[in-house]
Amino acid sequence: MIEIQNIHKAFGDNQVLKGIDAVYEPGKVSMIIGGSGSGKSTLLKCIVGLHQPDQGRVFFGKQEFTKMDFEEKVPIRKEIGMLFQASALFDSMTVEQNIVFTLDMFTEMSLAEKVDRANFCLERVNLAGKNNLFPAELSGGMKKRVGIARAISMNPKYLFCDEPNSGLDPATSILIDELIQDLTEEYQSTTIVVTHDMNSVMGIGEYVMFLHKGEKFWEGSNKDMLKSDVKELNDFVFASPL
Ligand code: ATP
Ligand code: MG
Repeated sequence: MIEIQNIHKAFGDNQVLKGIDAVYEPGKVSMIIGGSGSGKSTLLKCIVGLHQPDQGRVFFGKQEFTKMDFEEKVPIRKEIGMLFQASALFDSMTVEQNIVFTLDMFTEMSLAEKVDRANFCLERVNLAGKNNLFPAELSGGMKKRVGIARAISMNPKYLFCDEPNSGLDPATSILIDELIQDLTEEYQSTTIVVTHDMNSVMGIGEYVMFLHKGEKFWEGSNKDMLKSDVKELNDFVFASPL
C-alpha cells in the first residue's frame, strides 16, 4: 500500500500540486487522470522520489519514504518498477541490454541469470526473441512493452506507468491495459497509472483520482465516475474521445 498526504510541489512560482491525499492499495490498478499540465506526472514523480515534494508525506507500507535519505530508500527503490512517459529506453543498447542494465544496478545476479530473467519478462510482454533489436527498430507499442518488461524485471511490489497508452492504436492500447491488469493481479502490486485515455480508465481503473489545476477534484471507482456531478470531471470525460 502507498499513502500520500498533503503533497505540495511548485516550480518557481508555478504551484503545480496543492495538497494531494490518496491511498493506493495492492492488487489494484489506481489511476491519476486530468488534463495536460494538471500535475499528473509531477505527482507520480513525487511519489517515486524523482521530485522531493515541498510539503507532505509519502508512505510505502508503514515506512515514510519522504523522510529517508538516499541509502535508506534503496530497498524500496528495488521494489519499484517504472514505465516513463516516453519509455526512456537506452537507444544505444539492445532490448535485452536495456533489461539487463536494470538488473545490473539492483541485483547480484550472474549474467546467465539476468539473461534468463530478461527472456522471461520479454515473453511476458509478447516480445520473445526480440532481444537483439535496438529501440530504433521497434514500433511505439513494442517500445512501451520493452519499457514494461524492464519495469517488471525486478518483480516489483510497486508498478508505476506514466501514459502507457499514448501514441498507441486502440488494439495495442487494450493489450497494454490487459497486461498491466494481469501483472497487478499476478504480483499483487500496488499499481499507479497516469493517463488521459478514457478507454483505459473505463477498462481497468478500479480507483480513479481526477486532478484539476493541481487539486484533487474527485476520486472513486471508474463505474462511479460517469455518475459524478463534478462539472470539471464531466467536462474532462465528455471532451475525451472514447
Ligand atoms: P501531460 O498530460 O501533458 O503529461 P501532466 O498532467 O503530466 O501533463 P506535469 O508534467 O505534471 O503535467 O506538469 C504540470 C506543470 O508543472 C506544468 O505547468 C509544467 O510546465 C510544470 N513542470 C513539470 N515539470 C517541471 C520541471 N521539471 N520544471 C519546471 N516546471 C515543470
Ligand atoms: Mg505527464
